[in-house]
Amino acid sequence: MIYSPLMPKVSVKHCFQRIDYMTEFVIATNNEKKLIEINRILKPLSICAVTAKEKGINLGDVEENGLTFAQNAYIKASSAASKCDYAVIADDSGLCVDALDGRPGIYSARYGGDNCSSDKQIQMLLDELKNVEEEKRGAHFTCSICCILKNGRVIKVEDYCYGSIAYEPFGNGGFGYDPIFLVNGKSFASLSDEEKDAQSHRGKALRKLKDELSKYTEEF
Ligand code: IMP
Repeated sequence: MIYSPLMPKVSVKHCFQRIDYMTEFVIATNNEKKLIEINRILKPLSICAVTAKEKGINLGDVEENGLTFAQNAYIKASSAASKCDYAVIADDSGLCVDALDGRPGIYSARYGGDNCSSDKQIQMLLDELKNVEEEKRGAHFTCSICCILKNGRVIKVEDYCYGSIAYEPFGNGGFGYDPIFLVNGKSFASLSDEEKDAQSHRGKALRKLKDELSKYTEEF
């Protein structure tokens, strides 16, 4: 790694290990948990994801009116890029349930209406699936990530994690639908960070992003 004096010197609370020279990327989300997952995986590239708020940037409300996760990730990233002088990363992700023809899908965050808590979203989903037998409870998470570098280069990656929906929540970790999403008999919420990163949709998509970004470090 060649450290350039042009790289901003940062002391950012979300970086787990202080590194003197890191490039800050603004993330187009307020989801702290996603921020932590992004930083865990991109840290080896000396990238530190920070929230727009932390940089005093107001990203405003963006209408996520795409028809796919990839479209929404691009909408969020391009809107953020137009409002700040940083490279940006946007993640659009969600849960697709087979028995519900792929719902809640890109509406995962809005399932149950605006400001509906995760607990309530989980309960609603469990209620919708209460008469669905075990072998028909298949589901997958999708994660689409769009990164736009300061020179305008757009990098898009996507990955998936296949599993099933439990009959009740398990575990205290993670966020969102993690307590009811099962892979190999364990819910995402009962996995360690390392275990979740290894198999999750976001972990896999972030590793693809890391591979892509490693080709363009000169452009940071
Ligand atoms: P987004 O912020 O529009 O991408 O919506 C993401 C929503 O999908 C989150 O609020 C969660 O409800 C759900 N989601 C995405 N990724 C995960 C995950 O890794 N675990 C649990 N829920 C997730």
